[in-house]
Amino acid sequence: MRADLLKKELNIFTFGDLLEHFPFRHIDRTKVNLVSEMTPLTEFAQVAGVLLSFEIIGQRAGKRMVAQLKDKTGILELTWFQGLNWVQKLLEPGKSYLVFGRVGFFNGKPQMVHPELELLTPDQPVGKNFLEPVYSTTEKLRSRGLGGRQIGKLTQLLMTQVREKDLEENIPGSLRSQLKLEGRYNAFRQIHFPQSEEEYQRAVKRLKFEELFLAQIRMNLLRSQRHRFSKGVLFEKVGDLFNDCYKHHLPFELTGAQKRVIREIRADTATGKQMNRLLQGDVGSGKTIVAVLTMLLAVDNGYQACLMAPTEILAQQHYQSVGSLLEKLGVTVKLLTGSVRAAERKKILQELAAGELKILLGTHAVIEEVVQFKNLGLVIIDEQHRFGVAQRARLWKKAEIPPHMLVMTATPIPRTLAMTAYGDLDYSVIDELPPGRQPVTTVHRYESQRSNVMDFIRLEISKGRQVYIIFPLIEESAKMDYENLMKGYENVKAYFPEPRYWISMVHGKQPAEQKELNMKRFVEQDTQIMVSTTVIEVGVNVPNASVMVIESAEKFGLSQLHQLRGRVGRGAEKSYCVLLTGSKLGNDARERIHIMTSTNNGFEIAEKDLELRGPGEIEGTRQSGALNFRLASIVQDRDLLETAGKMAVSLLEKDPDLVSAENLQLKKFLHYRKGPVQWSKIA
Ligand code: ADP
Ligand code: MG
Repeated sequence: MRADLLKKELNIFTFGDLLEHFPFRHIDRTKVNLVSEMTPLTEFAQVAGVLLSFEIIGQRAGKRMVAQLKDKTGILELTWFQGLNWVQKLLEPGKSYLVFGRVGFFNGKPQMVHPELELLTPDQPVGKNFLEPVYSTTEKLRSRGLGGRQIGKLTQLLMTQVREKDLEENIPGSLRSQLKLEGRYNAFRQIHFPQSEEEYQRAVKRLKFEELFLAQIRMNLLRSQRHRFSKGVLFEKVGDLFNDCYKHHLPFELTGAQKRVIREIRADTATGKQMNRLLQGDVGSGKTIVAVLTMLLAVDNGYQACLMAPTEILAQQHYQSVGSLLEKLGVTVKLLTGSVRAAERKKILQELAAGELKILLGTHAVIEEVVQFKNLGLVIIDEQHRFGVAQRARLWKKAEIPPHMLVMTATPIPRTLAMTAYGDLDYSVIDELPPGRQPVTTVHRYESQRSNVMDFIRLEISKGRQVYIIFPLIEESAKMDYENLMKGYENVKAYFPEPRYWISMVHGKQPAEQKELNMKRFVEQDTQIMVSTTVIEVGVNVPNASVMVIESAEKFGLSQLHQLRGRVGRGAEKSYCVLLTGSKLGNDARERIHIMTSTNNGFEIAEKDLELRGPGEIEGTRQSGALNFRLASIVQDRDLLETAGKMAVSLLEKDPDLVSAENLQLKKFLHYRKGPVQWSKIA
């Protein structure tokens, strides 16, 4: 009966689950609060007193039990809405009780709703000499006598029967002593029933490390298994196209980081194993040229390559910039998007199947079933977070041997997140911006300063520059946002009238042609101002634009703000980003604005974003089960994760198959999430 409830309410099925239902805090039983000490600011309290009386009052939904508990300083009211029969059996006026719960104030008097309750016997001292665990529970369980404390009692009972052999060690001894980690059995005892705060912290550290370490071992094993056993396309040579481009046609000198990444990719694709690589680089760090050279490598080796972008505008832009470079080398490249007409599409499909077309650029359109390649050897996904895992898998199926995959991120991912969510991928970073970039100056302005901002825009335009003005568009309230955008557009138009000024407007509701026409006019400097929603967020490249104004900047997330800011500062001119907000800002919004005005470094911003929002909210990782740690947090336990990662790598270097005696135990654990013991079910 209770077992059923535990299953339903807390997902506790086995004794093992119960042991892993860790207390969320401990209470010091020596500390008892006095009723007179309670104030509306008191959160939780523990009170010892005599029960004066109790009664059931109210009808139906309002039916409840109210009791009075008196200590030497005052009276505390206790209320129950559920489980009245059960509570009634426990209560006896004149007896002493110890209660614990959240304190509320009603009519100026302290009260507790559904407190934990325990009868005090004369021989039982109030203060026991250990920290008592408090477990999360639910109202329903509590009303059936399984409050946080009762769960503790079950756990305690269980602990008396668990032997050291039931909780086998899984971290090798040498590693444990190197890191001074508590043994597994002790850690389990002490996380529930510590003798001191210090002992508790040691237990927590040990169990957190275990979680992170096992996860890192699993990730690294997955990766090395792929390296060893996967079959991949072999790019054995660096051929004429690559060399020709590298020596004669690069529009600029590559940065050291770009060169390093290209070396990494070359080494990886020359092994005969499939490459599965994540390429991280801040906005504007120059990922596109890396993509181009990698595609040439594929073509040099007789394979086809495909580059996929998340939006039509982006794909178009790649087609223009990449296309003109490739044309000089005599490589054919075509663009496939949803708006390519039937006749052209048919031609592209034929050429692809025949192997005449070497490089295909496009949007989601390229993963459709009908798109068949002759020998696809490389897939590059730009601005990764918009593509799901399933979509990536569909690309795999387009060739007998899986093509190499290069996934390029739009914004940096914090290192800890990359380690945990993408740890099975190989990983390259462009951590250097092209030389001569002037950092974008970012300022915060209030709505009331709008006319100053407009004056500034006018000044920049008079110098021949162009300006973006971005409006938020949040899907749920799209209608209102759309109206705001229109109002905003009229407003901008009033400041910047035709024919002196021309404005482009781009938003998601426009037909594709209109969108492209407006974009094109801005790119070709026909218009000086681009009023837009975040559809231009990712990747768009107009080097002459020097000002980015973000309206209602408080509504945007950090990575979005950083992406938007990345649209300027791409040319030689000094660029600016203006964050316009209302006068009232919440704490988080204030913090975001502060971060944006104090750094341009996308890696730093990504770390802050993770801290502010937590791992679950970072785009693209929500589905990832890799982040479901019970105890550890990739934000708070960053250092421990780094250590676990390093230790996992060095252990696997020495013993890649975990065959040494010391690592056997660890290996056993990789197959069971909860460890090797088959716990019997809770009866
Ligand atoms: P992202 O990494 O955001 O995709 P891009 O590849 O679009 O960046 O490059 C941003 C801009 O920097 C482009 O205009 C590109 O031509 C230029 N660029 C890239 N690499 C270099 C370099 N090594 N030196 C100078 N300019 C570069
Ligand atoms: Mg890009």
